[in-house]
Amino acid sequence: MKRIGLFGSTGSIGENVLQVIRNHPDRFTVQCLTANTNAELLIKQALEFKPQSVAIVSDEGYTQLHSGLSGTGIRIYHGHDAIVQMARDENYDLMIGAIVGFAGFLPTIEAIRAGKDIGLANKETLVVGGAIVNGLLSKHQARLIPIDSEHSALFQCLVGEDMRSVRKLILTASGGPFLHTPAEDFSSITVARALKHPNWSMGAKITIDSATLMNKGLEVIEAHWLFGVGADRIDVAIHPQSIIHSMVEFVDGSTKAQLGVPDMKVPIQYAMTYPERMTNNFDVFDFRKWNRLDFYEPDRNKFRCLKLAYDALETGGSMPAVLNAANEIAVAGFLQEKIRFTDIASSIESAMQAHTCVRDPDIASVIETDRWARAYAQKTCL
Ligand code: NAD
Ligand code: MG
Repeated sequence: MKRIGLFGSTGSIGENVLQVIRNHPDRFTVQCLTANTNAELLIKQALEFKPQSVAIVSDEGYTQLHSGLSGTGIRIYHGHDAIVQMARDENYDLMIGAIVGFAGFLPTIEAIRAGKDIGLANKETLVVGGAIVNGLLSKHQARLIPIDSEHSALFQCLVGEDMRSVRKLILTASGGPFLHTPAEDFSSITVARALKHPNWSMGAKITIDSATLMNKGLEVIEAHWLFGVGADRIDVAIHPQSIIHSMVEFVDGSTKAQLGVPDMKVPIQYAMTYPERMTNNFDVFDFRKWNRLDFYEPDRNKFRCLKLAYDALETGGSMPAVLNAANEIAVAGFLQEKIRFTDIASSIESAMQAHTCVRDPDIASVIETDRWARAYAQKTCL
C-alpha cells in the first residue's frame, strides 16, 4: 500500500489522480488532500477517500469543511502555511504535486526535505527553483518523477539510457487553439476562444499557457532541470495530434518517442507506480485510427512567450522566477478580461527587462523575486 499525499486534489490533475486511486484501491490509500477554495468538492473527496487530514486556503472553505466533515475524525487545517506544514509532517509515502503555480513551490520543497518521493505535475516549482530542488533531492535522497506528459515521455524514453548518449530532447506541443491564427488577429483573441484547447481538458491557467505557448516555454525549463540538458539541446516540435508526447534523439542517430492518446491518467499512474507498470482500462493508441502524424516548427515571432522562456533559461538565476510570476499575473489579468491576449507577453517581457538578476538564488530570494515580479506585473498590466 502506498500512502498518497495529494496536494491540489480539487484540480484537473487532482481529480485524475483520484481516478487512478479509485481504480486501484488495493495499491493506494489517501493520506491527505488539499485545495484552495473548492470546499464542496474537497468534502466530497474526503468522504469518499477518508484521508487522515485535509487543508484549504480560503476562510469560507474552512468553515464549510467543519460542517461538511463533522463527526468523521478527519483533521482539518486552514491556510497556505498549513499546507506547507502538512507536506512536511504528514505520514505519506508519495507526494503528488498538483497545485497550480508558485503556490506549489514551498509544499514541494518541504516534502523533499522530509525525504518524500514526489510525483510532480506542478512544473512552476522547477521553473522557479530547479537548482534548489535538485540540490535537496540529492541531499535527502528523494526521488522526483515527472507527471507532465512530455516529461513523463522523456523520462520513459530515458529509462536504461546513459545521459551522455543523448543528443537532443524534443518536446512536442499541440500548438494550442491559435496555431493557424494570423499574428495580426492575436490582439482580439477572447478568453472563451483561448480556453478551448483542441486536445486536452485542463485547469484555466495551463490552458491559457498552452494558447500562448508559455506552457511549452515552462516545459523547456522544466526539462532542463529534470534531465540536466542545456537549452541549446532542447527543441520544440508542434505536433497537433498530441499522440507523440515527446522524443529523445541519441548520438547514434536513433530517436525514441513515447506515444499514447492524450490522457493525463497515463503519466500520473506511471509516476505513482514507477518502476512498475500497472494494467488499466484507459484508451490506447490505435494505429488504424491515425493514418498521419504532423510536425511543424513553432513560430517564435507569433508566440513570443516561447522565446521569452528560452531567454529566461539562458539568463538563468532568478530570471525564470520573474518569467513565471509575471506570467501568472498576466494570465489572471487576461482571464479577468483586464488585458489583451498579446499583453501577456509584453507584460512578462517588461518585468524581465526591469529585473536585476540574482545568481544562484536561495529559497528566500526565489520568494522575494516572485513577490517583486508579481507586484511589477500587477502595475504594468492592470
Ligand atoms: P487546476 O487549476 O485544475 O487545479 C489546481 C489545484 O491547485 C486545485 O486543487 C486548487 O485548489 C489548487 N490551488 C490553486 N491555487 C492554490 C493556492 N494558492 N494554494 C494552494 N492550492 C492552490 O490546475 P491543473 O490543470 O490541475 O494543473 C495543476 C498543475 O499541473 C499545474 O502546475 C499545471 O501546469 C500542471 N499540469 C497540468 C496538466 C493538466 O492536464 N491539467 C498537465 C500537465 C501539467
Ligand atoms: Mg505538458
